[in-house]
Amino acid sequence: MARVAIVTGGTRGIGEAISLALKEQGRQVVANYAGNEEKAKAFTEATGIPTVRWDVGDHEASLAAVAGIAEQYGPVDIVINNAGITRDGVLHRMSYDDWNEVMRINLGGCFNMAKAAFPGMRERGWGRIVNIGSINGQAGQYGQVNYAAAKSGIHGFTKALAQEGAKYGVTVNAIAPGYIDTDMVAAVPAPVLEKIIAKIPVGRLGKAYEIARAVAFLTSDDAGFVTGSTMSINGGQHMY
Ligand code: NDP
Repeated sequence: MARVAIVTGGTRGIGEAISLALKEQGRQVVANYAGNEEKAKAFTEATGIPTVRWDVGDHEASLAAVAGIAEQYGPVDIVINNAGITRDGVLHRMSYDDWNEVMRINLGGCFNMAKAAFPGMRERGWGRIVNIGSINGQAGQYGQVNYAAAKSGIHGFTKALAQEGAKYGVTVNAIAPGYIDTDMVAAVPAPVLEKIIAKIPVGRLGKAYEIARAVAFLTSDDAGFVTGSTMSINGGQHMY
């Protein structure tokens, strides 16, 4: 039977590419989304991948959603914590809400999904968790104390949980993408984006599938010896 994989924020951008890559690998993929119904519907029509709507920052909703998916499709062996948001602003203008919301969804979402899926993986002796961090969690970024802190937290979370899962066949890894051509980056003003691209040695933005192929490797049987690692995929922008 195909292993069940949940991709949070799996209907758009990097998540969409991850959902497709895991499906291609023979996984039973279920893609989560937050509220963009139109995109989720079009995604299912195009790919045949089912979608489930919930807020990954909501602890109870995440536990209930994972339990529901397990009941319908079987035990959840693979979780990709990809859902993320930005609420940018320099610190002196950033609201407490913007701080909290980014921490709640980007970092809290990883905790919620791990709480829901990790115990079962541990019991069954096989599991794969991949958390999508960011170059800005490694290097920091002007105007993003909330996002950089949450993403940096993801990298610590990954290493800690990897230690807990190692003996039980559960690997936990992170990917730190650089600037990838998605809606999130489309929101960056053009002059700022030009300056960013000028700093990428490869000379272009990354593509969503370039992250997705790495996720497919990290969730494969072949990657059983890779745990607690952070794969930087950023066109050489930050060699870490
Ligand atoms: P997009 O903004 O294109 O897509 C975000 C996805 O996350 C959507 O499917 C959205 O659902 C979902 N989502 C947002 N909030 C929630 C929530 N509370 N609960 C469940 N789902 C949610 O993002 P990207 O594809 O650009 O980014 C994906 C990940 O990669 C993020 O974690 C981001 O921080 C990270 N990243 C991106 C980089 C980039 O350059 N693009 C660089 C480094 C890291 P809906 O469609 O319903 O809104």
